[in-house]
Amino acid sequence: MRVVALAGGVGGAKMVDGLAQALPPNDLTVIVNTGDDFEFLGLKICPDLDTVCYTLAGIANPSTGWGRADETWNALENIVALGGPGWFRLGDKDLGTHFERTRLLKTGCSLSQITDRFCKSWGIIHRILPMSDDPVSTIVCSNQGEIPFQEYFVRLRCEPKVIGFKFNGVKLARPSPGVLESIKQADLVVICPSNPWVSVDPIISVDGIFDGIKPQVVIAISPIIGGRAVKGPAAKMFVELGIKPSPAAVANHYGSKQNDGILNGIVIDNVDEIYKNQISELGFEVLITETVINSPSARLQLAQNVLLFGRNLLESFT
Ligand code: GDP
Repeated sequence: MRVVALAGGVGGAKMVDGLAQALPPNDLTVIVNTGDDFEFLGLKICPDLDTVCYTLAGIANPSTGWGRADETWNALENIVALGGPGWFRLGDKDLGTHFERTRLLKTGCSLSQITDRFCKSWGIIHRILPMSDDPVSTIVCSNQGEIPFQEYFVRLRCEPKVIGFKFNGVKLARPSPGVLESIKQADLVVICPSNPWVSVDPIISVDGIFDGIKPQVVIAISPIIGGRAVKGPAAKMFVELGIKPSPAAVANHYGSKQNDGILNGIVIDNVDEIYKNQISELGFEVLITETVINSPSARLQLAQNVLLFGRNLLESFT
């Protein structure tokens, strides 16, 4: 079964890890959010791409979910000692990635070419595509004004109250090579348990991606469990936008096929079983299972459950 996964950073990487364990290389393409990308210390930083790649390469920091394992911080400490900025944490090994990416961009390589090259070096056998090679910048509209995403997320620790979001540049951004083809050829599209507002929405806002996904069988895994996000501001964002955070809210965010949305089914955690009827009545198929996926075996198990759910949906349509 050919699968396309849409992924942000930490939650996305965990799900992608499970799918990569379950699927052969030719059967999985991962389309990663680049709306979080920004420039820091003169370097191009792609947090979600790096989190997904480090995770698949087995070199991610297991306790944070982002950055590299066995990291040292000499360069950043020196920069801070010299009066430079240190609010975005970049370790020495991680810096190597950003230096090399920035160097290659300056020679005219595209982000997708660079990602492909890095994946080969790291021994990643599945296909990882940035959503676009063109710049897209997620902006958080808040009670403190419009804030670039990483400033909101890291420097301001998600404190400003969210009013809405903008994805600057998205109207001009083209999907990177292979994105639309992989969606067209997919049997199943999996929306990882990533932040719907700032990780998945930028991806489906790129020209052609929403329309490409719509006719396919699409399943999302809820990043909201028991009314909370496992990590990060997703639940806080729902609350501030006047929506009670729940897997039903996640399903409604993407919308059912009957309501001009993209979703056929949603995977919700065992603790959210009470939402099953509500979500079914809204027109979504529901799978209830364990969705906290911190260990490799839990990730594989969820991936297998998601694939079986997808296969059953696929069969019911054909
Ligand atoms: P970010 O760019 O690093 O914020 O990455 P994502 O958007 O991909 O991931 C953030 C989301 O992942 C949050 O909303 C979390 O609730 C969700 N998440 C993290 N770990 C898990 C997990 O083990 N299970 C589920 N279901 N969601 C998770």
